[in-house]
Amino acid sequence: MKRFASIIFFLIFSSLAFAQNTPARPKLVVGIVVDQMRQEYLYRFESKLGKGGFKRLMGEGFMLKNAHYNYVPTYTGPGHASIYTGSTPAIHGIISNDWYDKTTRKTVNCVGDERYKPVGNEKGNGDVSPSRMLSSTITDELELATQRRSKVIGISVKDRGAVLPAGHTPDGAYWFDSNSGKFITSTYYKEALPLWLEDFNKLNLADNYLNQEWKTVYPIDQYKESGPDDTPYETKWKGKDRPVFPYNLKEMRKLSPDYELLAITPFGNDLLAELAKTVIDAESLGKDEWTDFLAVSFSSTDLIGHAMGPNSIEVEDTYIRLDKNIEDLLNKLDKEIGKGQYLVFLTADHAVADVPQYLKDLRIPADNFRSAAIEAGLADILQEQFPGKKLIENVSNGQIFFNQELFAGDPKTAGVDYLIATELIKNYMLRQEGVYDVYTRQMLSASDYGEAGVKGLVKRGYHTKRSGDMAVVLEPGWFESSRPQGTTHGSPFTYDTSVPVLFYGYGIKPGSSVTYHTITDIAPTLSVLLKIKYPNGSTGQPVKEILD
Ligand SMILES: [Zn+2]
Repeated sequence: MKRFASIIFFLIFSSLAFAQNTPARPKLVVGIVVDQMRQEYLYRFESKLGKGGFKRLMGEGFMLKNAHYNYVPTYTGPGHASIYTGSTPAIHGIISNDWYDKTTRKTVNCVGDERYKPVGNEKGNGDVSPSRMLSSTITDELELATQRRSKVIGISVKDRGAVLPAGHTPDGAYWFDSNSGKFITSTYYKEALPLWLEDFNKLNLADNYLNQEWKTVYPIDQYKESGPDDTPYETKWKGKDRPVFPYNLKEMRKLSPDYELLAITPFGNDLLAELAKTVIDAESLGKDEWTDFLAVSFSSTDLIGHAMGPNSIEVEDTYIRLDKNIEDLLNKLDKEIGKGQYLVFLTADHAVADVPQYLKDLRIPADNFRSAAIEAGLADILQEQFPGKKLIENVSNGQIFFNQELFAGDPKTAGVDYLIATELIKNYMLRQEGVYDVYTRQMLSASDYGEAGVKGLVKRGYHTKRSGDMAVVLEPGWFESSRPQGTTHGSPFTYDTSVPVLFYGYGIKPGSSVTYHTITDIAPTLSVLLKIKYPNGSTGQPVKEILD
């Protein structure tokens, strides 16, 4: 009886305590994007991960095991924009990292904006703003909901990794300037760096990291989850005759300009993790009744992944180290904000393909698509059909842009019949090895946003005003490259679309789901947890399994 009474007392007491300590909303949301992370890494590298990083999110949080990108191209700019807007390039307009702008007939960058200048290093990479992103982000909606009392800050080594998640009206966005080794911003945000960032920059952590050697965390023979250290599928870095550990950065740095080397080592992630902890303190995040938002995007995983491929010890070691960064960050949040008072989500902006040459050597269909020769052949055929007319103005991101002037007015005098031209190109492209399918503007206009299959992914990645006249999708395992080393991403296939989605902390019960979800579900789920509007272009759905 006594025992029973004490249990009752404990239950009442703990529920009271819970009621008192649990705010109506999380005090801080931390969004973590890992650039180029596959869902399968969580399983393949599991034996090397600690208890407090990824495994804490997996064990105590909610994991979507079957979450995918639902558009092409699966690149960094579109990925970050889609996570934070809950929509796809068809709506938010970030159709690639760089694209051919039809109006100015120049290539533009997803965050490039000549109206703004760098702050922190006048020669730095800082002509930057989020203006090309056409819909609101979850971070914008938080600012709107609290009359801008919430603090919203985005940080990354890459500019687009900081700028797009922070949205249009944040309190700051900071990215790494490889020219100076410092974090900078642009005049879109502020006229001067905050003092705490000046102080952080003065620590010269980038120099400290680059005076180190990159050695594996565990003895190298324990990396059984990856291929051998020396393979023909990995890029040889300047100053190294073989792609093997250890990497003597001090020596290699002599051959690389500025601080570019930092981002292609795991120390780029270490530096960002240090900045994240500094921002939490300096901006007093999560300290008042208004929910704050810190958007963190780790970029080194992508640069190392491109160079070495997902089967390399370099990538595995990078994830073992990132696991420690995440553990460190969660410990900091426990200490400063309090366990259960903050909300974390972790995802990736895209996954990655295996190195095609590696698959080829294993007799799995894959290859490099050599587009230069194919484009030249196409130009010849078009010249024969439409003599004296240069129909194709640009080919980029798997899209073909036509010279629109050739379709103005009378087709007989302007020179090109649209239907004949697109049929000709489609037939020619489908004769090329490695081409899966070709879509025209008309086909995509006639299809539905929710359409299934590869065409649906093309449609959702296709912005009617910004995208090209035709879109080409390559077969699984293929991408455009002329080198047998290294890899990339961008396709509609699962090796590029399948990414981790983990929610942890405030309002999240432990669990997992294998139901199909799309990356656009993250922002609406946050809207429900924060009790605020959905981003204004959002097409996703809140994840029922998490919120029920
Ligand atoms: Zn990449």
